[in-house]
Amino acid sequence: MQSTDTIVALATPAGVGAIGVIRLSGPDAISIANSVFRGKDLNKQASHTIHFGTIRSEETILDEVLISLFIAPHSYTKENVVEISTHGSQFIIESIIRLMIKKGARAAKPGEFTLRAFLNGSMDLSQAEAVADLISSNSAASHQVAMQQMRGGFSNQLKALREQLIHFASLIELELDFSEEDVEFANRSQLQQLILQIDGVITELIQSFELGNVIKEGINTVIAGRPNAGKSTLLNALLNDDRAIVSHIAGTTRDTIEEVLNIRGINFRLIDTAGIREATDTIEAIGVEKTMQKISQSAVLIYVFDVLALSASEISEDIERLHRPGLTFVAVANKIDLSINDRLKEIKLPEGVSFVAISAREKKHIDDLKNMLYEKAVGNRLSDNQTLITNIRHVEALQKTQESLQRVLQGIENPVTSDFLAMDIKQALHYLGEITGSVTTDDLLDNIFSKFCIGK
Ligand code: GDP
Repeated sequence: MQSTDTIVALATPAGVGAIGVIRLSGPDAISIANSVFRGKDLNKQASHTIHFGTIRSEETILDEVLISLFIAPHSYTKENVVEISTHGSQFIIESIIRLMIKKGARAAKPGEFTLRAFLNGSMDLSQAEAVADLISSNSAASHQVAMQQMRGGFSNQLKALREQLIHFASLIELELDFSEEDVEFANRSQLQQLILQIDGVITELIQSFELGNVIKEGINTVIAGRPNAGKSTLLNALLNDDRAIVSHIAGTTRDTIEEVLNIRGINFRLIDTAGIREATDTIEAIGVEKTMQKISQSAVLIYVFDVLALSASEISEDIERLHRPGLTFVAVANKIDLSINDRLKEIKLPEGVSFVAISAREKKHIDDLKNMLYEKAVGNRLSDNQTLITNIRHVEALQKTQESLQRVLQGIENPVTSDFLAMDIKQALHYLGEITGSVTTDDLLDNIFSKFCIGK
C-alpha cells in the first residue's frame, strides 16, 4: 500500500541544536529535495549515499547541508526517504520545511513515518508501538524490553499461536461445507489441548504485564515514617545528593517530593512523605492524608524508623497501620550509628516484612537497602530474552482472546455445532490479530499513532 503523497517533518527535537535532521518520505521525496539542492543531481545517486551541497530558496542560500538518500524499498518507511542534516537553527529548519511544503510535500502527522513503515510491512503493530517505547525508554531495563519487542520477540510468539488456531479454524470451516454429512475434520480433543496450551501462554503474557509495566513506568515507592525518623536524609543518601530539604524540626517535609532512583536498570520513583504521626496542625494533616494516599498508589513502601526513639510496640503499631496485602514492605531501622544495642533484637516484624539496619546520615548499609529493594520488587523475575507485555492495549486484547477461547472450550465440552465453534475461534483470531496489526481499524491506528510525536 504505497502512499501517493510525500510527507516532511523535523526528526530531531525542536529547539536549537548543533544539527537538525529534516526527514521526507514518499514518492517525490528525492525530486522535491533535488529541486532546491545545489550539488549533485540527487535523482541520479545510489541509495544509502550522503551528499554535500546547499539548499536555496530562490537565490538565497538557506544553509549548507548533508543529504542522505534511501531509495524505496530500502528505507524505514519502505518509501523514498531523504534526510537533510542542517545546522540546528530554528529559522533554518522552519524555512527548509516551509520550502519543502511549497515544493509539494505535506507536513507529517504525529507518528506518520512509523505508520507508513507499518502499512508498508516493515514491522507489525506491536513492533511499531515498541518504537515509541524505545524512544521514551529511560532505563537500561525499559530499553531492553522495548528493544526485544521491536525486534519481534513478542510478535513471533503470537504469530505461532495464531497460525495453529488458523489451522483448526480452516478445518472447522471445512466441516461447515460438509454439514449435511456430520463429519469432524477438526479433532476436538486436539483442539481442546491446543486451546489449553494457548490459554497458558496468554495467561503468562498477561501476568508479565505487572513486571513489564513496572519496567516501563518505574516502581512507585513511598518512603514513610514518623517525623524525624530520617526519611529526607535517607532519600538524599539514596540519591547521593541534597535534593530534599533536611531539617531538625519534626514534620517539615510537608509536601511529597518525587525523585527517580535507578537500581540495576530499574527505576524506583521515590516519594518522600510527611510523617505518619497523628497530625496536630492542619498543614501536617494534609501531609499525613497524602501519605496514606501515596501509599495506596504505590507498589513498594520503605518504612523508616528511628531505632532509639521508638519502642518495639510502636514500630509494630506503625507497620500494622501501613501494611496492606500486595504491598512490598521494607522496614528500615535508621540511626544505627547512635546505638547498635539490643533494641534491634527486640523488634518483631510480621511475616514477609524484611528489615535492614542503616545509618542514613553516615550513608552506612545504603547498598544493602538498595539490594533488598531490587530483590523484593524484581527478584529473579527478570531474565534475558523473556517476553514482557508493557502495553495495556495488548493486555486487553489478550483478555478478550482468552474469553473467546473459553467459549470455544465450553463449546467443545457441551458440544455445539461447528458454526458456533468457528465463530468463537474467529473472534479469538481477531483479538490476537489486533495486537500484531493483522487486523486493524482506522480508529485503532489513529489511537496508537496519534500518541507519537511529529517526525517519528
Ligand atoms: P524526616 O523528618 O523523617 O525526614 O527526618 P530528617 O531526614 O529530616 O532527619 C531528622 C534528623 O535526624 C536530622 O537532624 C538528621 O540529621 C537526623 N538523622 C537522619 N538520619 C540519621 C542517622 O542515620 N543518624 C543520626 N545520628 N542522625 C540522623
